[in-house]
Amino acid sequence: MSFLPIRVLVVEEHPFKQLVATQVFKDSGCEWVMGVADVAAALELLDRTGPVDIVLCTLKEEGLQGLTTLEALSRTRWVRSMIICSSHAQDLHDAIERMLGLLGVSFLGYVDAPVRAAAIAVLLTRYLETTVANGHPVSRQARHTRASKARLEHAIARDELKSFFQPKFNLMTGKSDSLEVLARWEYPQFGVLPPADFLAQAGRFGLMDELFFSLLEQALAFLQTAQEQGHVLSLAFNLEAGQLACKSLLPRLCAALERYAIPPSRLTFEITESGLLEVSPGVLQTLIRLRMMGAGLSIDDFGIGYSSLERLCQLPFTEIKLDARFARDLETSSRNRAVISSTLALAQALDMAVVVEGVEHESQRQGLLKLGCELGQGYLCARPMSATRALAWLGMKSVSCGTL
Ligand code: C2E
Ligand code: CA
Ligand code: CA
Repeated sequence: MSFLPIRVLVVEEHPFKQLVATQVFKDSGCEWVMGVADVAAALELLDRTGPVDIVLCTLKEEGLQGLTTLEALSRTRWVRSMIICSSHAQDLHDAIERMLGLLGVSFLGYVDAPVRAAAIAVLLTRYLETTVANGHPVSRQARHTRASKARLEHAIARDELKSFFQPKFNLMTGKSDSLEVLARWEYPQFGVLPPADFLAQAGRFGLMDELFFSLLEQALAFLQTAQEQGHVLSLAFNLEAGQLACKSLLPRLCAALERYAIPPSRLTFEITESGLLEVSPGVLQTLIRLRMMGAGLSIDDFGIGYSSLERLCQLPFTEIKLDARFARDLETSSRNRAVISSTLALAQALDMAVVVEGVEHESQRQGLLKLGCELGQGYLCARPMSATRALAWLGMKSVSCGTL
C-alpha cells in the first residue's frame, strides 16, 4: 500500500502478537508504528512523542485490565481513535464503544486475534474517510508539533484559527438555513488542521473562551456578509459545558451581537451530552439566560452519553443532535433504527427538533426519511467550508443541497 500519514501505537503484552500487529500496520503503509507491552509504557511513549491517530489495544476474556488501559489512554487526549482486539459479546462491545465516545475517542472497529491485513485495511480506510478526507490534509510535521500555549495564543490573536461552516439541512427538500461553526487551524506551514489536532491543548491551556470569541467574531462577520447577499441564516456554535460557568460569557456575547446588529435568536449553542452530566447552578443559569435571550440550545452527540429523560426535561434544550453512529447501517441495524425512532418520539414529546449527524449517502437520507427524520447534517449536503467557500456555496445552491 502507498504511504499513509497515520501514526499507530500497538499496546500488546504478548511479544509475538505485538510483532504481527505492528508489521500489519507497517505493511499497510502507515508512517509511524510503535509497539509497547503495557499501559505504563504507552503513556510514557505518548508523553514523549505526542498524539497518535490510532491505538490498537487488546481486551482479554477475563479481568478489567484492558478496560483500564482504554480509559487511561483515552484520558490523555493524545489518542484520536481506537481499534480493539476482542471476542467479547456484542452488547459488551456496544457498551465499550459508548464509553470511548464519552471519553472523546472515536472508535474504528473490533478485530480478531491474530490481526489480519484485510481487517486492518478496512479500518484504515474508515479512518482516512472520517479524518483525512474530512478536509484535513494530515501534515507529518504538524502531527509532531505540540503547540505551546504562546503559539496557540498567537494563532488565536492572529486569526489563524478559523471558523468553518457546515450546513444542517432539510432531508426532504435539501434546503438549509442554518450552519454549524467548526474550528480549523490554518497553520502557515502545514495547511488546515482539524480540531482534534489543537482543541485538547486549547482546553488544557485555558484558551477555549478566547477561541470561542475569535470564532464568534469571524462567524458574525460572515453572517452579516451572507445577509447582505440575501441569505438570512442562523449559526450554531460548539461550547464546552464548563464555558457556560464563565461569568463574562454572556456580556461579551451580547456586546458582539450588538456590534453586528444580529439578534440572539439567530444563534444556537451545541453542548455535548457528556458535558451535561453534572450541571452546576451557574451553568444552568447561563443556559436559562441564553434561552430567555432567544438563542437555541442543542444537545450534541446525543446517544453516546448518559442523558436520562429526567435530565432532558430539566434542561431548557431546543434541539437534539443525534450522534453520527446511529445513521450508519440503517438497513441492517435494528438497534440503530430503534434509537432513532425513540429519539424522535422523545423529542416530539419535549418539543425539540432532532438533527441526525453524519448523513453521507443517499441511502441514509432515504432511510432517515422513512423513520420520520426531518433534519440532517453531513457530507451528502456539504463538508465544512471556509467562509469564502460557504458564501460561494450559498450563492450556487440557493441554500439547497445540490445532490437532493
Ligand atoms: P461535532 O460538534 O459533533 O461536529 C461534527 C463533526 O463531524 C465535525 O468534525 C464534522 O466535520 C464531522 N462531520 C460532519 N459531517 C460528517 C459526515 O457526513 N461524516 C463524517 N464522518 N463526519 C462528518 P470536526 O470539524 O473535526 O470537529 C470535531 C469535533 O470538535 C466537533 O464535533 C466538536 O465537538 C469539536 N469542535 C469543533 N469546533 C469546535 C469549537 O469551536 N469549539 C468547541 N468547543 N468544540 C469544537
Ligand atoms: Ca456540534
Ligand atoms: Ca456531534
